[in-house]
Formats: sequence, C-alpha cells, structure tokens
Amino acid sequence: MEQSKKAKLIAILAIVLLVAALTVSATYFKRKTWADDKIRVVTTILPLADFVEQVGGNKVEVITMIAPGDSPHTVDFAPSKLEMLSQADVYVKVGTSVDFELALMGDFEALNPDMPVIDCSDGIMLLDGEGDQHDDEHGGDPHIWLSPINAKTIIENISDRLIAIDPENTAFYTQNTNDYLDQLDELDEYIEETLSEKTNRNIMIYHPSFGYFSNEYDLNQHAIEIGGSEATAKTLESSIRLARLYDLNYVFVSPQSEKDRDNAQLIAAETGGQIVKIDPLPVNYILNMRAIANAIAQELK
Ligand SMILES: [Zn+2]
Repeated sequence: MEQSKKAKLIAILAIVLLVAALTVSATYFKRKTWADDKIRVVTTILPLADFVEQVGGNKVEVITMIAPGDSPHTVDFAPSKLEMLSQADVYVKVGTSVDFELALMGDFEALNPDMPVIDCSDGIMLLDGEGDQHDDEHGGDPHIWLSPINAKTIIENISDRLIAIDPENTAFYTQNTNDYLDQLDELDEYIEETLSEKTNRNIMIYHPSFGYFSNEYDLNQHAIEIGGSEATAKTLESSIRLARLYDLNYVFVSPQSEKDRDNAQLIAAETGGQIVKIDPLPVNYILNMRAIANAIAQELK
C-alpha cells in the first residue's frame, strides 16, 4: 500500500475510534447518579421541577421522568431513570389525570415503597375534562399547572412537604417560597393586564391544555382535539366553522406534538392564518407564562 494512502486510512480509523469513544462516554455520563448531600426529588413534568428548585434551591436535586420534548399523554421514559427513582427521597406528582401518572405511579411507588409522594393537586379545584366535554373517566382537566393561581397552591404543597422532610432548613424554604409566591402574583397581574383590553376572548388551540388559564383570565378555549383523541374530519370541519365564526386566524399548538401541526396548519390555512407555538411544559415557568400571555395578546383582537 502507498504510504500516503496508509496514512489516510490510519487517520480515518483514528477518527472512527474517537467518535466511538465519545459516544460511549456520552451514554455513560447520561446515566446520572444522585449527589450525596441533597434531597433527591423525582417529578413527572418539567414545570414541577422548576417549582421544586424554586423552593428547594441548592438543597434539592431534581429529575423529571418525562424528558424535554416528550408529552405526559404518552407513557415513555428512559428506563435508566428507574434506578434513580428507586433511590429517591420524594416524588412530586401532578396528581390529576395525566396519562403518564395514571399508567405508572403504582409501579413507581412499588419500586420505592417508603418514598413520600407530594400531590400537587391538593387543594386545587379541578375543572371538567379536556375541552368542553365532560371527562368522567379521567376525573377532570389534568393541566392544573398552567394557571399561576394554581401554581401558588402547588408551591405551598411542595414547600410544606420539603419542610417536613428537612425541618432544619425551614427558614430557607419559607423565604424561597415567599419570594416565588410574590413572583407568581406579579405574573398573574402581568397576564391580567396584557389581556385586559381584548374584546374577543376566544382562543383556538389544538390540545386543550389551557382550561385553567382560560378560566382564570376569562377566555374561552376552543380545542380541536377533544378528550385526548385525535381530530377527525368532522371535528376539523367544525373547528374551521368556529374559527370563522369567532374571526380567529391562528391555531395555538404545543411544541411537543408534531402530529398536531398538520391538522392545525390546515385549519389555520382555511382562515388565512398561521400556527403559533405555546409551550405547556416549560423549563422556566414564569418566563414562559409571560411569553404565552404575549402570544395570546398578539393574536386576540
Ligand atoms: Zn395535555
């Protein structure tokens, strides 16, 4: 073999080995383990992780079962999380009819029987199920966290239990809780003000995740997907009719669900509008809720 060809081959081989090594180490580091000196908290969804971190600060370590970009209406999670779950100090569940929890909470608790479970929905009045329909089977609209007023109750639920687990740091948790409750009050005022001048209070959304939000801020949520089932030709047709009736030329979609987009696009196109993404599962709750208020204000007349 020619010398230069040989050198080239060796270089290629080295690159292949390097890539393989990096891939192995990436998988290795992804299999996280808990820090020794923190309260180990597992939650279902990202916004709850934000809430736990707001209250617990550097005294907690939090992981979520549902990865960023995934939907709580599926039951997928990384199996590697089960080991961390088995060593967790506390689980923070939404406590509503989130499909993921309905399917898996029993297994999670069996895996770590001494683990206390914080039910975020304690003290929150549940609205009827998805969209305008009654969802008896699943006991109400699951999306409680998308109202800042509910978020305040959730924060208090988390705070009470963290204090019970770690009473030595009561002052720390109480201070953090009060600070964040103030921020949630400011957020509530911001949303109220941002939407105050709007006379058309109808919003068109693909998945009915903004029931509590709409209830709080006097909006009418029109969902295309009702009761968690995909849109049919008939529901698409009636959504187009509604959009025309209320003069709505946009459809809100969540960034998590790819499959919504084509149908939403169809309806938006029929009314000369566009799809607008708003995120029901934010990493940073307050920033994102402000962005949602702005997005809604921009579309409403
Ligand atoms: Zn949902």
